[in-house]
Amino acid sequence: MSAQGTGIVIAIDGPSGSGKSSTAKGVAKARALRYLDTGAMYRALTWWMLHHGVDVHDPVSVAANVERPIITMGTDPDAPTVAVDGRDVATAIRGKEVTTNVSAVSAVPEVRESLVRTQREIIEAARAESAGIVVEGRDITTVVAPDAPVKLFITASAEARAQRRSKEVQTVDVAATQADLIRRDELDSSRAHSPLTRTADATELDTTGLTLAEVIALVLQLAEEAQVK
Ligand code: C5P
Repeated sequence: MSAQGTGIVIAIDGPSGSGKSSTAKGVAKARALRYLDTGAMYRALTWWMLHHGVDVHDPVSVAANVERPIITMGTDPDAPTVAVDGRDVATAIRGKEVTTNVSAVSAVPEVRESLVRTQREIIEAARAESAGIVVEGRDITTVVAPDAPVKLFITASAEARAQRRSKEVQTVDVAATQADLIRRDELDSSRAHSPLTRTADATELDTTGLTLAEVIALVLQLAEEAQVK
């Protein structure tokens, strides 16, 4: 690996709809940091597998195809991008088919090994070239960047998360959205490899009764405290 950069790493984990994406982007913009949505990488790989007829419920087939697509992430928090083999998939990866199948793909160890490697490369490049990076996902505080000086576990009630996610995907069926979130949380928290868990040294932030601005302000304060230490 090349010489280590000095930029800060802010690691954010949490379940779907907890507010981690909006928080991560807001913090990155406020501090001129880069931004990495690791969930988009698992979604992009899932999109490619579905697009190429790979049986996403067969871990052997998934593992055999992991290295085939080239996933490229743009880390500008004002305009993050995700491309597969040069094709912009930002909209396609938010569709129902990908959302339904992504937890099966992300549970495959070879998938995690490959994407974690790429994520660490993106983090190191950002640390070397900028003031640092905000990274969000399910295993950032535990596996991808366990040494990050700022580690957060963001939660919210299932109802609040379903309301937020329904707004995002513009559906009025909040109950179905909530059922899907709970199903994915269970799969993501119970898998054998890198399950979604809170480590003892991650600060837990329940965003249920907080505005986005309040959550961002809290994270910025934690980042400041970490940097003066
Ligand atoms: O954050 P988002 O909901 O877009 O993530 C989609 C899926 O990607 C999650 O449900 C999870 O299965 C997987 N994921 C993961 N590890 C991460 C980020 C996302 O397994 N660091």
